[in-house]
Amino acid sequence: MSIKVLSISKLYNQQKALNEISFSAKKGEIIGFLGPNGAGKSTMMKILTGFIKPSLGEVFVNDINVLQKPLEAQKTIGYLPEHNPLYKDMYVREYLQFQASLYKVDKSNIETCIEKVGLLAEAYKKIHQLSKGYQQRVGLAAAILHNPSVLILDEPTTGLDPNQLVEIRALIKELGKDKTVLFSTHIMQEVEAVCDRVIIIKKGEIITDKLLSELQQNKQQTIKVIFNSAIEESQIKTLENLVLSKIIGNNTWQLTFNAEEDMRSKIFDFAQENGFKVLELSSENKTLESLFRELTLQ
Ligand code: ADP
Ligand code: MG
Repeated sequence: MSIKVLSISKLYNQQKALNEISFSAKKGEIIGFLGPNGAGKSTMMKILTGFIKPSLGEVFVNDINVLQKPLEAQKTIGYLPEHNPLYKDMYVREYLQFQASLYKVDKSNIETCIEKVGLLAEAYKKIHQLSKGYQQRVGLAAAILHNPSVLILDEPTTGLDPNQLVEIRALIKELGKDKTVLFSTHIMQEVEAVCDRVIIIKKGEIITDKLLSELQQNKQQTIKVIFNSAIEESQIKTLENLVLSKIIGNNTWQLTFNAEEDMRSKIFDFAQENGFKVLELSSENKTLESLFRELTLQ
């Protein structure tokens, strides 16, 4: 196992930030660590990387006991902390050289890492001259300098604009091809775009640990449709995959389906076959985002 977390609890004074968290990650998995602010994501990551100690429990990274041998474990972990602390007055290459010497890493890796994170065209600049997205790339480059097999990324996309978001997500996915990645976020779409698996944490406890495909299977579609005239419920019930139907206004139905396919086009077919017209149709898909909101609601 690349990561093994065994019943970790963490108390900050009286406050319980983590309560008996356990999970493990196999080699090559990309896991989204999802939870609202204050859920305990950063705390878990700092424990995994050996920067703080838990109150109870054990953690192993690449079978190394992080509590007993933090330095040894850190050699196999790339960590991008929350808020990506960089020395912004330094040039990109200068910063990476500084990081390499700090961690006693072969400096010949620097250019490869610059290339891997797509920084080549910007690498001659000072860090503060870079956009937030490119600054994140510097943080990622620094995190992979020692070619770690496990990457721990704490909210790597927070504060990025939509284009940068897409780019950094793609980069994480690319880097994850030959590494185990645990990355935290409070955005469900992020997990959909990048991960194989999602662990949802709320108030210091894991409430969901599933493959993304498993979560997506639970997807229900709720569709609001306005027809041009009245329809009998019995006729509505002939719609395939329908699990719930409700009249919510004049010729207006709220229909819930349990289906893989998009039922909107089926509704159009249904209307046409039965001589009705669809005046309005809106999908309130139970997206993973709404599922997440439901799961983490206070
Ligand atoms: P997340 O990263 O999911 O937002 P954190 O791990 O940062 O959550 O925080 C979990 C809980 O622990 C929060 O309630 C937070 O206020 C508390 N906490 C985090 N760090 C400290 C600290 N150094 N001292 C006291 N409480 C802390
Ligand atoms: Mg955090």
